Amino acid sequence: MRKNLSLLAAGVLVLLGHAAGAAPVNRMILPDDVQPTAYRIAVTPHLAESTFDGRVEIDVDVRRRTHRIELDSADLVIAGASLDGEAAAPRMALDAKRQRATFTFAHALAPGHHVLRIAYSGRINDQAAGLFHLDHDTPQGPSRSLFTMFEDSDARRFVPSWDEPARRATFELTVTVPAALMAIGNMPVASTETLPGQLKRVRFGKTPPMSTYLLFFGLGDFERVSRDVGGVDVGVVVKRGDTAQATYALDAAARLLPYYNDWFGTPYPLPKLDMVAGAGGSVTFGAMENWGAIFYFERDLLVDDKRASEDDRRRVFETVAHEIAHQWFGNLVTMAWWDDLWLNEGFASWMEVKAVEQLHPEWTGWANDAGSKQQAMDIDARRGTHPVIMHIDDVSQAEGAFDTITYAKGAQVVRTLEAWQGDDTFRDGVRRYIARHAYGNTVTEDLWKSLDVGAPRPVTAIARDLTLQAGVPLVTELDSRCVHGHTVVALAQSQFSIDAPPVARWHVPVKVAVLGGGQARAVVVGAARQALDVPGCGPVVVNAGQSTYARVRYSPAGLAALVPVFGRLGEDDQLGLLSDTQALALAGKLPMGELLALMAGVPPSRDKPAVAQLLLTQLEDLDRLHDGLPTQPALRAWAQSVLAPFLAEIGWDSRADDGGDVRTLRVALIEALGEFGDPRVLGEVDKAFARYLAQRDSLDADHREAVLYVVATRADERTWEQLHGLALAAGSEVEKAEAYVTLGHARDPALGRRAMTLAISGEPPTTVASRVLRAVGRVHPGLALDFIADHWTRVEPLFGEGAGATIAARFFDTGADPALLPRLDAFVHAHVPPATRGRIVKNAAVIRYRASVRTLRLPEADRWIAAHAPGR
Ligand SMILES: [Zn+2]
Repeated sequence: MRKNLSLLAAGVLVLLGHAAGAAPVNRMILPDDVQPTAYRIAVTPHLAESTFDGRVEIDVDVRRRTHRIELDSADLVIAGASLDGEAAAPRMALDAKRQRATFTFAHALAPGHHVLRIAYSGRINDQAAGLFHLDHDTPQGPSRSLFTMFEDSDARRFVPSWDEPARRATFELTVTVPAALMAIGNMPVASTETLPGQLKRVRFGKTPPMSTYLLFFGLGDFERVSRDVGGVDVGVVVKRGDTAQATYALDAAARLLPYYNDWFGTPYPLPKLDMVAGAGGSVTFGAMENWGAIFYFERDLLVDDKRASEDDRRRVFETVAHEIAHQWFGNLVTMAWWDDLWLNEGFASWMEVKAVEQLHPEWTGWANDAGSKQQAMDIDARRGTHPVIMHIDDVSQAEGAFDTITYAKGAQVVRTLEAWQGDDTFRDGVRRYIARHAYGNTVTEDLWKSLDVGAPRPVTAIARDLTLQAGVPLVTELDSRCVHGHTVVALAQSQFSIDAPPVARWHVPVKVAVLGGGQARAVVVGAARQALDVPGCGPVVVNAGQSTYARVRYSPAGLAALVPVFGRLGEDDQLGLLSDTQALALAGKLPMGELLALMAGVPPSRDKPAVAQLLLTQLEDLDRLHDGLPTQPALRAWAQSVLAPFLAEIGWDSRADDGGDVRTLRVALIEALGEFGDPRVLGEVDKAFARYLAQRDSLDADHREAVLYVVATRADERTWEQLHGLALAAGSEVEKAEAYVTLGHARDPALGRRAMTLAISGEPPTTVASRVLRAVGRVHPGLALDFIADHWTRVEPLFGEGAGATIAARFFDTGADPALLPRLDAFVHAHVPPATRGRIVKNAAVIRYRASVRTLRLPEADRWIAAHAPGR
């Protein structure tokens, strides 16, 4: 599954009191005395009624004499059951809370093969769980499509089953559906039979043995475009009329599939691979890797060549790369239980970037992904983090495992190990793992075993430390000395923590480079000084290439040597040095002046947009921390002096050779410099806005976004009304949404309140209204919180199910005002169910930390800025 990480940042489940690697004594799983081997499922959906009828025949292998068969079933009405065609029906007991159905037989079942038959019916859901529908408008009226979404544990809403990843079985699905619609399953259609009443019966081929969560069924007024890729029928399935937008994803899959076939060493095993687009979107996920029939929301699969940006193409390519990687890591080889979910998600998240590095080097995969690494490290430095391998007792906890630690830290663990072993050795180990465990289930240790067969640099010690312990390793460069043409670098290992539980030791593999000299590798363990010899003399880069999951702290001399040569470092190292220095300085482990001097020294360039983007984000963060402080104007003046040369370098106007990154950066620079009050940017913005009011096509999409943002932040009542007029008059849905959201950016609190009043008035569309509230929440968190609490009955429907948790987790995760805490607490107690409150506890910790940064760290920063102010 590909998750939306922006939500996950706040979505870490707090599981206290579970020791990693503890014996699974409390694991709530089905008894293993009866094992399913094959399902034959027949389903008839009733689209208009949102219900379906089902029949299933399950081949089971009884391993020990028993009177009972117990399986998973949720929200299904079971009409009857029989074993081996016997007339006598078993006694049936349903436990809705535990989602279990138990059949008790009058006689004991003998060991061996039996056939269990169940007739049942179920619901077609509005939300993406089990069988669900998505509706869209067409010129002929509304059109309904059906899809399934079973991960982690919702196959039981479609078919009574052993709904646990290790209970692999084959599946043969037959559906009775309207003849005019297209049905999609995991396997190609084996037969189609015409039935009376404009119906047809479609039978799909038998799947290989697989986990229940990978089963798929889709139905709709679809079109399919396809291509033969090395003997595999690769298809993109879209709603009627959208085939032109399918080409990009089809091309991507046609490049990715051969790359993976080679890299994994085992060819994709199914005869076809469909990628199925569903209309609309979900706040929580973008796509799901069902074997042979991957589901995507349209924005993650379709590319409209006329409108798509480079970022859109990249997002689609990455999502396709992620989901196809799962066909091996996840589908062919599956984790035995949710504890090891990272084997799926960490690996697929790593593989998507690896594939980008190989097939789209111009997108600078790891540099572009640096943000998710930092997000993982931020979470991992705090209380509430958890080891990559989680302890999950019950499926109700499994959902909490789909978080930033599992995805983003998991990906960094894989990256660390690959860099340590070397690309080829690592790939050979993965090939061994896939070949050895194909069609099987594994635990994490199985991967370490395969990687270490004959490997000159084994990974097990490093890998166990990174996956069984939470927290961020810190490598400190104690000093570096040039001795006869080589450098002796002294290193030690500790932990970078804000308030995370302490961890004594990691085995941390690092590459150390001397600029203008050579490189050396070492595993740094423990606090004792460890010396490493590197050829050549010059500034030293620790964790060169940034492939290891760790932060680096330099000695004052070591950092001072790097500042003047910053522009000569690789992009990854520039990003790593800026991020580590910021994290350490805010946490009080480095002087703020060292951070600010480093930021001021970043040379303006258009070659490394990711670095400029990070610098800009760091300046904006410092600005937010200064909100309401008398030193904010001085900070902003300094920030202008740092950023303005970047805009001068890339230019106000678009250029034909601008990459997507440069265009995104230009928008961000105009917005940031506008917020900081840069007079030249404000002059350009005012001119451009006046022209835009007179002539709507005078601005391209990038400049429209940037100009309206800056105008909105500084708006007075008259300007705000002009912006409101633009929203009312907007020609396209996209422009309309953009214009409404703009209204929420105003810095004037009275206008913030007006924007929120407008949002709940019913005038803007629901999805836009929630974004307006979010925009106000970023500028005026206290005001937004009070308004939302006061107007709860009107706000709640804008966010749907779990509204309170979504708002509390997403709106109030970056504030720095402790006065917000009791109000947030009151809001959470009023509107968030206890089970999901854990997420918001973390927000409160972030707010408290940022408040402490404000009082403890900013005075030092402000003194440095006063001493280095521009023009002095
Ligand atoms: Zn995934």
